[in-house]
Amino acid sequence: MHLHGTSKKNELGHLEIGGVDTTELAKQFGTPLYVYDVALIKERARSFKKAFENMGVKAQVAYASKAFSSIAMFQLAKEEGLSLDVVSGGELYTAIKAGFPAEKMHLHGNNKSREELKMALEHGVGCIVVDNFYEIDVLDELYVDGERKIPVLLRVTPGIEAHTHDYITTGQEDSKFGFGLLNGQVERAIEKVLASKAFHLLGFHCHIGSQIFETQGFVLAAERVFEKIKEWKDRFSYVPEVVNLGGGFGIRYTEEDAPLPATYYVEKIVEAVQKQVKELNMEMPEIWIEPGRSLVGDAGTTLYSIGSQKEVPDVRKYVAVDGGMTDNIRPALYEAKYEAALANRMNDKEEEKVSIAGKCCESGDMLIWDIALPSVKPNDLLAISCTGAYGYSMANNYNRIPRPAVVFVEDGEAQLVVKRESYENIIVNDIPLKSKVVK
Ligand SMILES: *Cc1c(COP(=O)(O)O)cnc(C)c1O
Repeated sequence: MHLHGTSKKNELGHLEIGGVDTTELAKQFGTPLYVYDVALIKERARSFKKAFENMGVKAQVAYASKAFSSIAMFQLAKEEGLSLDVVSGGELYTAIKAGFPAEKMHLHGNNKSREELKMALEHGVGCIVVDNFYEIDVLDELYVDGERKIPVLLRVTPGIEAHTHDYITTGQEDSKFGFGLLNGQVERAIEKVLASKAFHLLGFHCHIGSQIFETQGFVLAAERVFEKIKEWKDRFSYVPEVVNLGGGFGIRYTEEDAPLPATYYVEKIVEAVQKQVKELNMEMPEIWIEPGRSLVGDAGTTLYSIGSQKEVPDVRKYVAVDGGMTDNIRPALYEAKYEAALANRMNDKEEEKVSIAGKCCESGDMLIWDIALPSVKPNDLLAISCTGAYGYSMANNYNRIPRPAVVFVEDGEAQLVVKRESYENIIVNDIPLKSKVVK
């Protein structure tokens, strides 16, 4: 297992994160357990922000909070001076409860409800990323004359397929998100928004995909968008104040992945925009980006206790852990690959190839196929690295399995930031049948 951030092997041969022995964490908080390396999250956030500062460009780095949202995480994002993308009333509510400033929140979503839009307006979110014509109409209706105009970006679909797994690509023309950039939809949207007194059109947004390892897609997206901006400058006498090029910066899950440093993505994006701006002789817009995975992904590690094993002669050995697709659905959903290690026996030599199974009633509930580990025993502690993004946030209660706890570790201290669900929590919304009245 590649050791990210402050993860290391300590003198006891245990995995240590943030100066805390993971075997102690397992004892104190139980398993499965999500562990976040706070220093690494800070380092990632700062490197994105610094890269823009170094280039002298006005920017917002918005944490795409769907990757991992909780009150503690939002407090950390606030402390680091990040902006925040939220995509639902639930994420918005959590952010408000965390004391995150509404003016630094951006509301996303392809089907924001009237209630969600209303809630966002009442709190005064900094921007609504408008996705479709219906949303323009609803916002127009919600707008009260004389109030602050609603700051909006229009989400456009530039028709670029980012280099990644098909399931998680959202940048093609054939996408449920945004206005087609190449088929005239954006122009109709701009006309509608500029014609209404409800809106302050800040600019445009696009997001070309996820787990992207090169910069070409971002450069191409910027070029496509600016080709249009050039047209719109004449046609609508409009130039954007903000261009948001989305997230999707890749991280290293396994040795097959070769991510670029944050600074490199930022430099290429800024250079691409600067080139276009110069050609158009317009003012440099603010550049916004929206990293999710790359801020929290490799900062997260999940600890599991090993239980049963099953040998299929001449085929494979299944080793089961006390979690699975309930706390990490990505392998089942996207065939995502992960690395792992025995956190309580980091010095032991790899002896056998096994496959890590979850405990759910689903053959597809597998976490890792074919990984070399020391000979594993019940109650060994298995650490799977890079589970910080889309792990807890996609966790579910399939088989009525309670969601694990989340701890933040830093400088030798651990802090519980999300409690483990109890069985009580599992039935909290259940309503028993009324007993029949016997006559
Ligand atoms: C999911 C998403 C992101 C974040 O993607 P990551 O791959 O986690 O960086 C950013 N912007 C939008 C619009 C998204 O939908």
